[in-house]
Amino acid sequence: MQDINKLLKETNLTRGKEDTWTWERDKLGDYSTSSGYTALVQQQPSPYRQVFEKIWNPLIPHKVCGFTWLLLLDRIPSKFNLLKRGLIKKMEAVKCSLCGRNVEDSNHLFLHCSVTIKIWSMCFEWWGFSTAIAGSCWDSFIQHESLATKSSERLGWIIVWFSLVWTIWTTRNEVIFRGKSMDLTKTFDQVQAQAFLWVKSKERKYISASLIGS
Ligand SMILES: [Zn+2]
Repeated sequence: MQDINKLLKETNLTRGKEDTWTWERDKLGDYSTSSGYTALVQQQPSPYRQVFEKIWNPLIPHKVCGFTWLLLLDRIPSKFNLLKRGLIKKMEAVKCSLCGRNVEDSNHLFLHCSVTIKIWSMCFEWWGFSTAIAGSCWDSFIQHESLATKSSERLGWIIVWFSLVWTIWTTRNEVIFRGKSMDLTKTFDQVQAQAFLWVKSKERKYISASLIGS
């Protein structure tokens, strides 16, 4: 009630003018999904706000950014989430698709699984970093960027994070739906190749756009 009174006191009413809806976050007063998303993100406390701003990386395919967003909100269809929604009925059916031992929730599958840890170690070794695996996917995203102290390495290292989680997810799906087995070396190669391709493909688009524009 106090909030309504405060709002009414600050409002100047004009006689003879029809009431209209206005979205204050936009100069023209029009609502858009992007301005709505920005408004919601700005209300988030730190460091969540910064993470939400960074997951929509222009170098990363939209579907991967969207997947990352769901992952950080723990909305991906991991076996444990499917159990919570009643789509998997038996507790025995939620064993991790990669190690076959622990419950497959997001933090286990992407960070603490004995198989996944090896891929992370390969990536850390590749970049010459040494660190412990984070406790949650949120912490992993924040910790990952902080490891690259040189600005010249930071962008590439962040792309590796996206490539790694996307590769883990697609490989896990191939294990479940196509009966494939996971090969650590091949998976690591895929993380590297995919990160490289994402950067190269965007570079080509920028070059093409600048050539057309010139
Ligand atoms: Zn596992």
